[in-house]
Amino acid sequence: MAASAGPEIERLIALLAKLPGLGPRSARRAALTLLKRREQLLIPLAAAIQETADKVVSCSVCGAPDTRDPCSICADTHRDNGLICVVEEAGALWAMERSGAFRGKYHVLGGLLSALDGVGPEALRVAELVGRCRGGDVREVVLALPATVDGQTTAHYLSERLAGSGAEITSLARGVPVGGDLDWLDDGTIVQAMRARRPA
Ligand SMILES: [Zn+2]
Repeated sequence: MAASAGPEIERLIALLAKLPGLGPRSARRAALTLLKRREQLLIPLAAAIQETADKVVSCSVCGAPDTRDPCSICADTHRDNGLICVVEEAGALWAMERSGAFRGKYHVLGGLLSALDGVGPEALRVAELVGRCRGGDVREVVLALPATVDGQTTAHYLSERLAGSGAEITSLARGVPVGGDLDWLDDGTIVQAMRARRPA
């Protein structure tokens, strides 16, 4: 009993199943919901995805996704240029912005160093970060990286690379749970961790 839904729908399900948190079963349910709610969901979602694909680029300064380059945060003259918060991915940046705890600029690494997965510094936006700190205008670099082995390895590496740049290197205080991704923290925890940051 091959209950195939037709190649287009099967392709939609197969793509949805690649999203984090969605296995084949939930992808099937999501697809069904989209098909049932054509006007409210399917068509607006298709348009939003197309528009994102057409317009979103990586900011050439910080690496965050935005529709303009430099991104709205890098272009914001009210934010502190002397303070750079380094995050693994944009999800952590968004969490930090939701918390309202930080009024400086960001730098999105695009991943973490990982001996296991063979990720070296050249695969991340490390050279760009070093370049931003070279001018002497950056007073402090806050390493807001996960409290995992890779996160801490990356933090240690960045501290060494940025030594001598003139910027103080700090990292978020504990309270960030070990193994915790910033995206999963509540805003209050992020605010506390940012206030109580310490030398890295
Ligand atoms: Zn930017």
